Amino acid sequence: MEEKKTDLLSLELPELEALLVSMGEPKYRAEQIFVQMHRGVSPEDMTNIGKALKQKLADTAYFHIPSIEKKLVSAIDGTVKYLFAMRDGNCVESVVMKYKHGNTICISSQVGCRMGCAFCASTIGGKVRDLLPSELLGQIIAAQNDGGERISNVVMMGIGEPLDNYDNVVKFLHLVGNEKGLNIGYRHISLSTCGVVDKINRLAEEDLPITLSISLHASDDETRSSIMPINKKWNIDALLCACRDYFAKTGRRISFEYTLIAGKNDSVAAASKLAELLNRRLRTRSETMPIHVNLIPVNEVSESGFTHSGKEAVDKFAATLNKKGIRATVRRKLGADINASCGQLRRAHEDNKQN
Ligand code: SAH
Repeated sequence: MEEKKTDLLSLELPELEALLVSMGEPKYRAEQIFVQMHRGVSPEDMTNIGKALKQKLADTAYFHIPSIEKKLVSAIDGTVKYLFAMRDGNCVESVVMKYKHGNTICISSQVGCRMGCAFCASTIGGKVRDLLPSELLGQIIAAQNDGGERISNVVMMGIGEPLDNYDNVVKFLHLVGNEKGLNIGYRHISLSTCGVVDKINRLAEEDLPITLSISLHASDDETRSSIMPINKKWNIDALLCACRDYFAKTGRRISFEYTLIAGKNDSVAAASKLAELLNRRLRTRSETMPIHVNLIPVNEVSESGFTHSGKEAVDKFAATLNKKGIRATVRRKLGADINASCGQLRRAHEDNKQN
């Protein structure tokens, strides 16, 4: 059934104003409603709007915040993992991590994913659908209200490829930065991509100074193409070229994710090649682009058959990068006891529904 009702939480303030004016309401009503919706209050529960307007809104529009289908709390570090149910019953995962500098949420951008990375659990069942701006925002509102503490940082590193859901993601970025809403500054937002080059180029033009995080995972095309199908469309060279342009236009640093898979991409030779590649492609002439590489021992997903690199290999890989002037750190693993990464909770939930 096609949705005929307006999704209120996906509207930017001027759009909400136009809607209310078209209903014969004064313009200022929109801001009152906007502010409360972004705190998670449904129009029907708002005390400062009348019965007649509530009825009009209920007839033509809807407001929905994801509901908590499952919640796991790490006994080790307090990391919280949510399985959120959307209005149509589809579920995605979000994770809240507590750092000294504030609470960070990792949100999903799609139900499933069609990028096909060989090591990733989120892509196994393909993509079901894109998430709406309201559903991206809703994950933060729901988690913040449940936790009772402000969430000040957002990483788009959950299920899905954010740049494969470009328009909704950009609209979400405008909404989440609105000072009347969650008011999360762009410098506190990062977006992770497997390398959708045409969209990286578009994003550079948007004047949204977020941090870009690139899932690189290999230092040569043969290896990268064998684990990341996107590399057959845009190879490493094309990707790094887009990164350079992004930095030139936005001045925002770019970080690289590198998942270490035993015997696949974790040799000292691969590390040397990676350092040379990044130095050569991103730091030519007088440019001093800050580069940071996050090393992540692969999370073992039973379907992929990959195993993570041992501590010695990880340390050697990091040391090789650092020696060659590329700052590299090994990602601290949070929520180890609740399997906080990877889209595996949604998969288990889907499997249960089918049995
Ligand atoms: N589609 C986006 C964001 C989602 S994945 C992207 O590709 O960047 C977030 C990060 O987790 C990516 O760097 C991804 O490559 C990595 N990842 C996925 N599966 C993993 C696994 N099993 N172990 C370690 N990292 C993984």
